[in-house]
Amino acid sequence: MTVTQRINQIRQQIPSHVRLVAITKQVSVEAMREAYAAGIRDFGENRLQEALLKQEQLQDLPDICWHFIGHLQANKAKKILEHFQWIHSVDDRAIAQRLNRLAAELSHPPQVLLQVKILPDPNKYGWQTPELLESLPELEQYHHLQIQGLMTILPLGLSDEQILAAFKSTRELAQKIKQKSNLPIEQLSMGMSNDYLLAIEACATIIRLGRIIFGERIS
Ligand SMILES: *Cc1c(COP(=O)(O)O)cnc(C)c1O
Repeated sequence: MTVTQRINQIRQQIPSHVRLVAITKQVSVEAMREAYAAGIRDFGENRLQEALLKQEQLQDLPDICWHFIGHLQANKAKKILEHFQWIHSVDDRAIAQRLNRLAAELSHPPQVLLQVKILPDPNKYGWQTPELLESLPELEQYHHLQIQGLMTILPLGLSDEQILAAFKSTRELAQKIKQKSNLPIEQLSMGMSNDYLLAIEACATIIRLGRIIFGERIS
């Protein structure tokens, strides 16, 4: 199947309001152009250098919306703010504070999501629930960021029931945050190639798909 056929097939499985972000780490700009031609406007990358190269090669497609999905290193935060409209991976207090300070100098506030660790996972970054709830008053003060919602990545090896439960817990956490703060937490970025249908069942608003569109990555 071609990239276009895969995208069309996925579109038929998901509600039209769900935002499909094509994750293009290690994907060629030719394949990205094919995805663009099939209607994709949201592209996600996890490495700054790779993304900058591609942005340069795709300059003729100015309506692309770029999403940063990787762990943010403090020294790259400024560049990431300048080159991405969305950041899905704001995973602790220090980086949130830094982004807010840097964003004060931008003309458009970045859309950000708080990456939460809904299940324990030593290999993943993200806010633990208690820490996030404690930090709400601080996050409410970050007026240069548009904190739109939560993002989660689940550990490997879960059953479908466990995956669905974890996505539902993420949604419940978002509801709790809305009750306890004035943050407009409406977006839920959850679901990747192997679990996006479960994420949609749990009311994901954004799904991030790589391999199912572009095929397996090499490494
Ligand atoms: C790579 C990646 C994805 C896409 O994963 P696939 O399994 O290729 O769909 C989604 N989100 C994040 C944060 C990623 O790093």
